[in-house]
Amino acid sequence: MRRRIYLTLTAVVSLAIVLGGCSAPQVGTAEQTSTSAHEQLEEELGAFDITAEQRELAKSNEAGYEPLDAGRGNPNWINTKARYAFARLMEFAVTECQRDMSEGDMAGHGVADGVVERFDAAMDPADETDQFLIDAVDYCVGELGMDKEALLMELTDGIIGDYYPSPSRCLPLTETILNEYLQSTLYNGVDLKGQTQVFPTEGGSAAMCYIFHSLSHNRVLNPGDQIALATPIFTPYLQIPDVNNYGLVSVDVSSTSEEDWDIAEEELAKLEDPSIKAFFLVNPSNPASHALSDATLERLKRVVEKNPDLIILTDDVYGTFVSDFQTVYSVLPHNTILVYSYSKLYGATGWRIGMIAMNEDNVVDRLIDGLPNEDKAELAEEYDIVASNPDEMPFIERLCADSRSIGLYHTSGLSTPSQVFMDLLSLTHLINPDDDPYIEQSKAMVHERYVALMDALGLEPYTGRENAQYYVVVDVNELLRQRYGDDFVAWRREAVSDIDFLNDLAKKEGVVLMYGPGFDAPEGCVRISLANLNKDDYVEIARRMGELMDEYYAQYEEETSLAAAA
Ligand SMILES: *Cc1c(COP(=O)(O)O)cnc(C)c1O
Repeated sequence: MRRRIYLTLTAVVSLAIVLGGCSAPQVGTAEQTSTSAHEQLEEELGAFDITAEQRELAKSNEAGYEPLDAGRGNPNWINTKARYAFARLMEFAVTECQRDMSEGDMAGHGVADGVVERFDAAMDPADETDQFLIDAVDYCVGELGMDKEALLMELTDGIIGDYYPSPSRCLPLTETILNEYLQSTLYNGVDLKGQTQVFPTEGGSAAMCYIFHSLSHNRVLNPGDQIALATPIFTPYLQIPDVNNYGLVSVDVSSTSEEDWDIAEEELAKLEDPSIKAFFLVNPSNPASHALSDATLERLKRVVEKNPDLIILTDDVYGTFVSDFQTVYSVLPHNTILVYSYSKLYGATGWRIGMIAMNEDNVVDRLIDGLPNEDKAELAEEYDIVASNPDEMPFIERLCADSRSIGLYHTSGLSTPSQVFMDLLSLTHLINPDDDPYIEQSKAMVHERYVALMDALGLEPYTGRENAQYYVVVDVNELLRQRYGDDFVAWRREAVSDIDFLNDLAKKEGVVLMYGPGFDAPEGCVRISLANLNKDDYVEIARRMGELMDEYYAQYEEETSLAAAA
């Protein structure tokens, strides 16, 4: 299936809503039955708009229930350890600055001389937060071989934020810590940290925008080029390829519930066609919340042998929710751009912290190097203002430069306090990498909710390792079939559209779910987020869904008995 996506005002508004995670203004709703590409786009955009409307309906639902919104992916938990540590480190860093100069509310810069001794003296091992900071610093020094003074200066200057990020792309010791974190959580034992470069960004959203912009700007992706999307996928990602007039044509590589949301062999084979320039996936996926199986990863390797210039862009934000997760980057490090975000696992969506990671030896640099001389000369002229050897400027540096229109490269980069917070979050994991209690707890939490929901719905939970259980896609038709049989399913399709069903669920029962086809999931599917409500709420959601379905069934029985009597 091919889709061409056009820029519309609604597209921009929706993208902003979804990426920003803010409450949505009212925009037009979508047609439900559509076939043309443009209508299809409207349908996709509709997913988030419709949910916004349903939120309103749910607030004053007819039953007077407490609204239950399982639409959002924003978690309802946070990580406390790194936040306490951030506050403590900030306090230490401010006192360090006051040693340099202190008058009223004004202080100077932190000073390296003696900082190690002062840190050791200030940290109290009897205090849990201090002990964590001691452990984190010891780990960096002992395991990663860092110089303690250099580390403390990077952390204290960084948290104070009194210098521009330098180097712009990533603070040096931070890059080592982030590499270590990615390797420990996502590579499943493959050692790539020494050959991977990292660019911290304002969340995964910014990472995606930067990547599409720079691939296009560097003429690696050109108007008319085909890119493949692993669908169903996070709605805004259906739109990015064309929202900025990139003019890319998207091809779906779809997965279905029949395959447990893994990508079937024939679908994956589409990528063997060298006219497919890039493959874009969320892994584990959103909305289906499934990671690629080992067999699919193996097949992907063979696909790339046939299409060696394929650029793979993988968004692994949900990776830690799958045990022994294996990122595509660890299987195809030279073809893959990895995006990670701290938003979900650590309850940090407001921080805007994520990153792009790429191998030093990667297909994008090779493609840029192979551009026609004229293109290379034009690009060199642009990057010349910030690079002494612009032809040699690696793509990851171009990403950083492009993020500030090249000219402001020297003031680009993620804010240093944000980088330090990423260090601290990463270190909560790294000091206990094999058995990280926080990660285990996050998995157990969504698992408990998932099982409670499936049980209450009378559906079989899928307990395969690939299931991240952060969301679940529920086929409403399947639910109805189980409860009332096929005839009723057929009647429901005619009488009550998917959108009517979701609207009724909000209006009558106060429950908000997300519209599956908006993610390119099949008709009849809804996405339920397991991240943002408590276990009992999911049982209650199932009960209310049952209540509404019973109401429909009563209507159906009435109609069929009337028809029989006539
Ligand atoms: C929630 C989510 C993210 C996180 O984005 P941030 O901008 O880092 O908050 C990234 N990708 C997908 C698919 C998501 O669902």
